[in-house]
Amino acid sequence: MSNVLIIGAGGVGQVVAHKCAQRRDIFSEITLASRTKAKCDAIAAQLGGSITTAQVDADNVPELVALIKQVQPKLVINVALPYQDLHIMDACLETGVDYLDTANYEPLDTAKFEYSWQWAYQERFRNAGIMALLGSGFDPGVTNVYTALAAKKYLDVVEEIDIIDANAGSHGQPFATNFNPEINIREVTAVCRHWENGAFQESPPLSTKRVFDFPEGIGPMNIYRLYHEEMESLVKHIPTIKKAQFWMTFSDNYLKHLEVLQNVGMTRIDEVEYNGQKIVPIQFLKALLPDPGSLGPLTKGKTCIGVIARGIKDGKKKQVYIYNICDHEACYREVQSQAISYTTGVPAVVGAIMMLTKQWHAPGVWNMEQFDPEVFLKELGPMGLPEVVVEGEWPEL
Ligand code: NDP
Repeated sequence: MSNVLIIGAGGVGQVVAHKCAQRRDIFSEITLASRTKAKCDAIAAQLGGSITTAQVDADNVPELVALIKQVQPKLVINVALPYQDLHIMDACLETGVDYLDTANYEPLDTAKFEYSWQWAYQERFRNAGIMALLGSGFDPGVTNVYTALAAKKYLDVVEEIDIIDANAGSHGQPFATNFNPEINIREVTAVCRHWENGAFQESPPLSTKRVFDFPEGIGPMNIYRLYHEEMESLVKHIPTIKKAQFWMTFSDNYLKHLEVLQNVGMTRIDEVEYNGQKIVPIQFLKALLPDPGSLGPLTKGKTCIGVIARGIKDGKKKQVYIYNICDHEACYREVQSQAISYTTGVPAVVGAIMMLTKQWHAPGVWNMEQFDPEVFLKELGPMGLPEVVVEGEWPEL
């Protein structure tokens, strides 16, 4: 029975709060804190007032330390934005409390998507005897666990991976992003990198396109190659991987809007001067776009996120496709959020369960593929995200 502090009351924070509240056997006390306390209170109201709420600026380490000392959690679940990761890790170090997040630290002024800053905390976390679990969402997160499962159970050697993320859902809006628009657009417009020949190879954003026939009635969709952070930790921790690629579906409509926004400079992440005031165009754009939280009741259809791992088993070439299908409307009925927030929030809670039950626990800074995938998946299915495993042939991408 543990006391947990959740930081961030956006789409993902809402799912995390709901899912923790469903597991009172593990999370006996739940505090939800964020920059805007009213958002925490609205989520607490959905849960019949059974959780505590607080206001915190997670960029202010002394404020965080004071809150952690007051709440005395066993674990801090960070589902604020990637910009806050290091501040929350600093506060955890100061108070001796374990840490979990779903996205790598990002500096405000450059889109990097890399783990270097957080891996640099390794010695400090180990010396303090506390644990940080990085990237416990779906991708990164479950995709790392699926790759670890392929390496443990289905292949003797993993040589290639394709991580494929499909949102086959529709929200009926002309243009909107399913999670924080700033992070989403930064990710999509960044230079593409994939792993091949022992190094990350660069290509222009969204320049490599394929058609992939998704299972379970979703059917063929366009997928585009882009860089995603889990490839960095996967090729480090599973060094037999010779090639790693990440693919995501985008509709023609989404890409049309994105192209125009990019061409007119609305996706810039640097400051521009306007009427004597400095503004960051992508932050202004975020203010104009629909709040991802508001898409929940509107979104229909499914997501399909998974990993195709190819390699050698018993001397023969083999591949395995491990994926999850999640239904937007079913998620909304359960936790009042669409599937993008759901598929991130549920693995965060399962990661927390792994840490609090000590099934995954060691001092230091860790990525998901470094622990036993089977115990995690045993919990993830019943919590709402079961996996499907298809062994054998699959068309090459
Ligand atoms: P939202 O923008 O919906 O929510 C972010 C929340 O963090 C908001 O409540 C916001 O407060 C709060 N916040 C922002 N800055 C601060 C601060 N300085 N102090 C305190 N609280 C702050 O984002 P999402 O819920 O969609 O995403 C949450 C995280 O999940 C992100 O890091 C995102 O990158 C990650 N993610 C990971 C995925 C994965 O599969 N691994 C997939 C999708 C998302 P306010 O309401 O005041 O703005």
